[in-house]
Order: sequence, then structure tokens, then C-alpha cells
Amino acid sequence: MNKTKDSRQPATGNSKGILFIVSAPSGAGKTTLCRMAVDYFSDLRHSISYTTRPSREGEKNSIDYHFVSQQFFQKMLNNAEFLEWAEVHGNRYGTSRNDINALLEKGLDIILDIDVQGARQVKQRLLANSEQPAVFIFILPPSLKVCEERIKTRGKDSPEVIAGRLENARTEIRESIKYDFIIINDNLEDAFERLKSIILAERSRRERMMGEVKRIYSEVLDL
Ligand code: 5GP
Repeated sequence: MNKTKDSRQPATGNSKGILFIVSAPSGAGKTTLCRMAVDYFSDLRHSISYTTRPSREGEKNSIDYHFVSQQFFQKMLNNAEFLEWAEVHGNRYGTSRNDINALLEKGLDIILDIDVQGARQVKQRLLANSEQPAVFIFILPPSLKVCEERIKTRGKDSPEVIAGRLENARTEIRESIKYDFIIINDNLEDAFERLKSIILAERSRRERMMGEVKRIYSEVLDL
């Protein structure tokens, strides 16, 4: 897929980038869709989380995750370095506040692939600080049966981990009603079209476009 700069609706049209929060139960295709979005939009970055989970085959440090020790994670936690963090399937995951702020300040949009507990924390923090709201997107598999089959056939984790993921999936699906957008991933291409549409629509919001509009139409707009 060609990397595309959405030049007509630039992420930098407004001063600060947009935070897209994407959650889903395991096996919904979330990681694939997030990767496709980052490949497609050159001004969209994936936030690299810190985790205490051991790396899986093929995963690279500081690309897929920052793989860190329990002690390292705890130190970051004590220093209030996380925008959000959560324990998922027995491992800890967190998003660095500094990493996110640095990207947003550059006007880049960010996609945060985080679980429902983390998404809830981000929502509360942004509301409490009256910060620019984030966009919350939930990806659902086409049915519970498909969701469970996908989790079972992923084959990278132990039976206990798989059992935990199945139980968690049901809890997470219940949280989908709290998100702004829902994508049912029945077909990857269709699901990606929807994700792209959400990103473009958010970038086109009047309040985010005003900087660009003022620049182009300063002669006619008395602002
Ligand atoms: P996995 O271990 O399969 O890569 O991820 C397990 C779950 O942890 C996924 O739902 C993923 O979205 C979530 N996750 C990954 N990074 C973070 C993070 O920084 N914060 C939170 N809250 N969840 C995360």
C-alpha cells in the first residue's frame, strides 16, 4: 500500500495533533488495522507502549513495544510518567505521557492501541484537564463465535492465556457502547475504509480546520 500524505486535510492544519484511541477484544484485527492506518497516513504515528510482557517471536524492541522489566515499569509509574497504564492478562502496559505530548506538539496525529481500562483513564484525564478530546474507536469482530475462534487459533500463547483472553473479550465487548465510533471487522478492506473515513472526518472538523482556512482565506474572512 502506498504511503499517503493526506495533504488536502493536513494533520498539521491545526496546531496540535489528534489522539485516536483504538480498543478491541483480542482477535478483532485491531493491530493489523492500526498498522494499515500508520502505513497509509504519513502524518499518523503509532504510540509505542511500555510493557512487562516478554516479546513474542518476530516482535522487535522499541518498534512493537518497549519491553521493560517490572522494576523499570514500576519506576516510570512512581514518577507519574504514564498517561495511562493497565494490567492486561497478567502483564503491565503503559503509554508514556512525554512520548505522546512530543508527537502531538509536532502536529502529528497518534493512534493508541490500548485496552478498555486504559481508554477509560485517558477519557477521565482529558476531561479533568479540559484538554482537547480524543477520538474513541472500538473494533468488534463480526460475532462472538468468530472472536473466540480467532483467539483460539492465534497459537502464540499458552492455554491459560487463551482462556483469560476469552473471558476478557466478553467484558471488553460490553465497553464498546462507550466509544465514539464502532467498526465491525467482517472484512479487512471494508473495516480499513471505515477507519480511514473516521480519521479523515475528524481531521476535517471545522475547529481543526480553522487555522488552515484563515491562512488561505485571510482576505475574505474577518476573523
Ligand atoms: P498484546 O500483549 O496482545 O500485544 O496486547 C494485549 C492488550 O494490551 C491489547 O488489548 C492491547 O491493546 C493492550 N495494550 C497495549 N499497549 C497498551 C498500553 O500502553 N496501555 C493499555 N492500557 N493497554 C495496552
